[in-house]
Amino acid sequence: MNVILLGPPGAGKGTQAEILCKNGFIHIATGDLLREALAQKTPLGLQAKAYIEKGALVPNELVEALVFAKIEQAKSSHLLLDGYPRNASQCESIDTFLELQKIAISHVISFEVPEDELVTRMMGRGRKDDTEAVIKNRFEVFKNETTPVIEHYASKNLVHEIDGIGSVEDISNRISEVLRLNTIPQVETP
Ligand code: ADP
Repeated sequence: MNVILLGPPGAGKGTQAEILCKNGFIHIATGDLLREALAQKTPLGLQAKAYIEKGALVPNELVEALVFAKIEQAKSSHLLLDGYPRNASQCESIDTFLELQKIAISHVISFEVPEDELVTRMMGRGRKDDTEAVIKNRFEVFKNETTPVIEHYASKNLVHEIDGIGSVEDISNRISEVLRLNTIPQVETP
């Protein structure tokens, strides 16, 4: 099972990814990887800095190198991609790469959360790129660049929309249902 989490900034992808990791998924989150590179001041981190601070997408070739290396490391584990692919070009790259690796995406989970709720959540979380102007930019990028990614996977019938409003547990249950995790076997009645 290889899953892509898609959704606007603040939708709760990271929180749900953490829970899914308990089911043996390897979480590959480009935002986390980039922030880690930035904290360690690696050349890639330093190159990414200005983009992250503006809420713009980091150039594809930088992000790609990070993600592909992680996928190769993960070998045959279940993949959980979070924050990638985020535009049409990344979508094309990952599809080609996964095909070469003989890895198939089984589910794309699209988190549906209204924008006002997202802003409230992000203002409460206080990450450095969670200021009003930067959040606005990230929403724009999501609408303009990530919508085609959802459409691409929808055309392959891989997209499952999840209502992203509710408790962490509610949302986790919705995802488990889609992925058919922890389903209790039905006892057959004679
Ligand atoms: P959010 O989804 O809340 O905006 P992320 O942690 O996923 O947060 O991403 C934070 C920032 O990292 C983005 O605004 C962008 O600058 C950069 N980033 C993350 N993933 C990608 C990607 N796939 N391509 C380009 N830039 C990315």
